[in-house]
Parts: sequence; C-alpha cells; structure tokens
Amino acid sequence: MSTVAIIGAGPNGLAAAIVLQAAGRSVVVYERLDTIGGAATTQELTLPGFRHDLGAAVHPLGAASPFFQSLPLAQHGLAWLRPEIPLAHPLDGGTAAVLHHSVGVTSELLDEDGPLYQRAVGSLAQGWDLIAEAVFGPVLRIPSHPLALAGLGIRGLRPASVAQGSLRTTQGRALLAGLAAHTPMPLSKPGNTAVALVLAALVHVTGWPVAKGGSQAIVDALASVFREMGGLIETNRYVRDLDDISPVGTVVFDTGPRAMATIAGERLPARARRRYRLYRHGPGVFKVDFALDGPVPWSAPDCRKAGTLHLGGTSEEIAEAERASWDGVVPDRPFVIASQPTVTDPSRAPVGKHVLWTYCHVPAGSPFDMTEAIERQVERFAPGFRNLIIDRHATGPADLEAWNPNLVGGDIAGGRTDQLRMLFRPRLSRSPYHVGPGLYLGSSATPPGPGVHGMAGFHAAQTLLSNGD
Ligand SMILES: Cc1cc2nc3c(=O)[nH]c(=O)nc-3n(C[C@H](O)[C@H](O)[C@H](O)COP(=O)(O)OP(=O)(O)OC[C@H]3O[C@@H](n4cnc5c(N)ncnc54)[C@H](O)[C@@H]3O)c2cc1C
Repeated sequence: MSTVAIIGAGPNGLAAAIVLQAAGRSVVVYERLDTIGGAATTQELTLPGFRHDLGAAVHPLGAASPFFQSLPLAQHGLAWLRPEIPLAHPLDGGTAAVLHHSVGVTSELLDEDGPLYQRAVGSLAQGWDLIAEAVFGPVLRIPSHPLALAGLGIRGLRPASVAQGSLRTTQGRALLAGLAAHTPMPLSKPGNTAVALVLAALVHVTGWPVAKGGSQAIVDALASVFREMGGLIETNRYVRDLDDISPVGTVVFDTGPRAMATIAGERLPARARRRYRLYRHGPGVFKVDFALDGPVPWSAPDCRKAGTLHLGGTSEEIAEAERASWDGVVPDRPFVIASQPTVTDPSRAPVGKHVLWTYCHVPAGSPFDMTEAIERQVERFAPGFRNLIIDRHATGPADLEAWNPNLVGGDIAGGRTDQLRMLFRPRLSRSPYHVGPGLYLGSSATPPGPGVHGMAGFHAAQTLLSNGD
C-alpha cells in the first residue's frame, strides 16, 4: 500500500485522510497540537463546565457539505442542533430583522423587500441541490446546471453596496450587509453579494445549526471514522520540514500556502515556492468568549431565540466598520458576529448559565484590544449584558496565529477574498490542489475556501487519486 502523509488535523486534513484511507492508501495525519480539529476545536476556555468554540461555531456549510453528508457522522457522535430562529440582526430601538427557517415567514416580515427575497433567496434555497455543486465544487469546471448557477452569478457578482440599492427597507439592507460582511472585505467589493445569498439560502436549507457539545464533535466524528478504517493520527508532531516525517512519499498539506512552501522546501520548484511564499492574507479577527450568569437580555424578543446574531446596526455602519479593518484602521464600532449556542444546546454550560461567542474583523495582526468595543456592541442591543459576565477570554490576531499557524495575522478565511480569490486560490489554476511533485494542498486556502465542510481536503484527495500518486 502506498503511504500518504497529511500535515494538519483540521477538518480538511481529516477529510482528505478519510478519502485516501478509503481508497486503500495507508494514511498518517500529523498534528502539531496535542488535540485535533484545527479551527473547529472546543475547550473550557473560561471556567469549568463552560465549553467554548475556539474557532468555528455555526455550521451552515458543515450541515450542507456533500462530503460530510456521505459519512456516517451521526453514528460517530455528531448531532446538528437547529436554533428556533437561525439568524437575528438587532437594530436600535429594540427591533430586529430576522431570518426564519421558512422563506415565506421571512419574506412576510421583510415587507416591501419580501418579493425580492422570495425571488433571490427562495429560488436558491429551493434549487439548492443544483447550486451545491458550484458552491462546494472545485472551480474551473462547467457546472452541470449552468442555468441554476446563473441566478446566483448575475445577482451575486455585484458588490453588496450596489445590490442594496434594490432594497427598500432598513431591515433588508442591514441583513444583506451583515451576511455579506462574513467575507472580510469592504461591501463595495464584487463577490460578497454571492456569499450573502448563499448564506441566506442555507438558513432555509440547513437552519444554521450548531454541533451538539461544540464544533469539536464534528472533527472528533471525522477522526473516529478515519481511525475505524485503520488510519493513524499522531498529535504533538509539528512538521517544520519534510525530513521531520521522512521517509515520506506523497504529502497533503492542511496548512497555509506560505507554510507549505517552507515545509516542502526543494521538493517544490523554486518559482512555485516563491509564489506561494507571497500568498496574500486578509484582515484578522479579534474574538471574545464570555461565560454568563444567564441568557443575554436582548431587547428584541426574537434575538433571545436566535442561534446567530449580527451586531452592527445599519448597513451604513457595517460598511464603515468593514472598510476600516480592510484599510488597516481599528473600527470604533466593529461589526460583531455572535453565536449563543447555549440557547440551543444547554450542555455547553452549567445549568442556568450560558456562553456567548463573538468576533469582529480588525486589521491584519492588529495588537489593539477590542474587548471593550465588542462588549459595547452587545450591551447596545442587550442592556444589562455586562452585569451577567462572570468570565471572559479574549483572543487577538497574534494569539490566533500562535494557536494555529494557518490563521496568519488572525485571518480566518485562509487568504484574501477580494477579486474572486475565494474561488481562485491559492492561484488561478486548473488544478489548485496539485502544487508540486507528489505534493497537494487541501486547506481552506484552496476552493471552496473557508468553512468547516471538508470539501477542500476532499478535492485535494480526489486530485491525488486521479493523478495516481
Ligand atoms: C475564530 C474563527 C471563527 C470561525 N467561524 C466559523 C464558523 O462559524 N463556521 C465555519 O464554517 N467556519 C468558521 N471558521 C473557519 C473554519 O474554522 C476554517 O475555515 C476551517 O477550520 C479550515 O479548516 P482546515 O482544515 O483548512 O484548517 P484548520 O482548521 O486551520 O486546521 C489546520 C490544522 O493543521 C495544523 N497544522 C498547521 N501547521 C502544521 C504543521 N506545520 N505541522 C502539523 N500540524 C500543523 C493546525 O494545528 C490545525 O490543527 C472560523 C475560524 C475561526 C478561526
């Protein structure tokens, strides 16, 4: 049996490992930390009994991942839990824009913007199976349903700042801006409307679930499937050079392109090495996890039932915050993405207590402490929140990178996302996963980009198999 080494036990590394082990390769995964899971890990960061997601928390992409769906993950301990309300976006004055599970209910609440929502998002949700191939597939392939994709492409390529011109309500514009701002780039850049449309459609397809017990349950289930097939995972193995794991043949990297170029050394042609070393990353994030004495006292009642919250007020305010972090300026009023998993999954905290997960975009590598700014945004829509904090844990860009070197400068998207780089990464190529002789890259720096879905690792492994490596 030919052996394959996988560097990194994140969701993509584990996905590649499963595909290759299933195809008869003998696979060893090397992970630098003593725990597996990469940016999908859960730990008691604050107090005993409070389980916080260190990276990813909300899983529309995980629940919709065709690869995850093909695996018996439920038998290996994974349960998706859907919040009563998938997404709420509070506004000043105690109201909130809300995405419900039902397209019809959401459209009704969106009033004048309802019919457009039905057409743009409802149609994507309804035809999701046709769209999924494009969303999760490797690019530069003619989709089998080009017409289904055209709806997404025509609307989605417009920058969110332009697309919002078609919306009449403050609620509709705020929702669009919040969804688009999941990509760390200004709302005026093309491509982020597509992200907003896909994420909105996934509300109706998956309900934006959390994993019972924390995101760790996803990667633990993947590792369990892999080990059951006879695969090996070695933790505490920081691979700095391929000699660290020699003798080694074929390698799949679940690392960033820069680290891959350093580790691969001379096995990569010099020109390619130079190019990957210059790979560009985007803004960073600043994250704060809270242990709370009770549920967050949101003014808008719907927010109390929501799994995910977008805290940034109007579309103008969100646009300003995202532009600032892109331009290297610390935003005064950051756009905060929050997840309150204990509303759906009480097992994450002691009885009656809660956890809250928050982050905002900041300039790459910014040393500025955003704890106060993030707390101010929560308190703005939930007066009394601060009185409930019993502990907090702040993680800035440098801490993120020290924990996981894939998060260069705190970039959680695996690289810049402007100029359609989400699709064409790490470079414009027909085969983005095959980076050198016997060398493959399958991290979120390859299509389909960031998210806990395992699809990049899946495609890297498929490429390796079709090359006969
Ligand atoms: C704060 C934050 C919030 C996020 N929120 C969400 C969310 O809500 N939903 C979502 O879908 N996605 C979210 N993401 C993104 C998602 O977590 C990532 O896109 C995903 O984990 C990428 O998977 P990966 O396998 O490519 O890399 P990673 O998860 O980064 O895993 C890489 C692994 O490789 C290991 N490694 C790196 N270098 C080496 C080396 N030299 N030797 C050995 N091991 C090495 C690392 O320790 C790590 O375990 C978030 C990420 C972060 C950080």
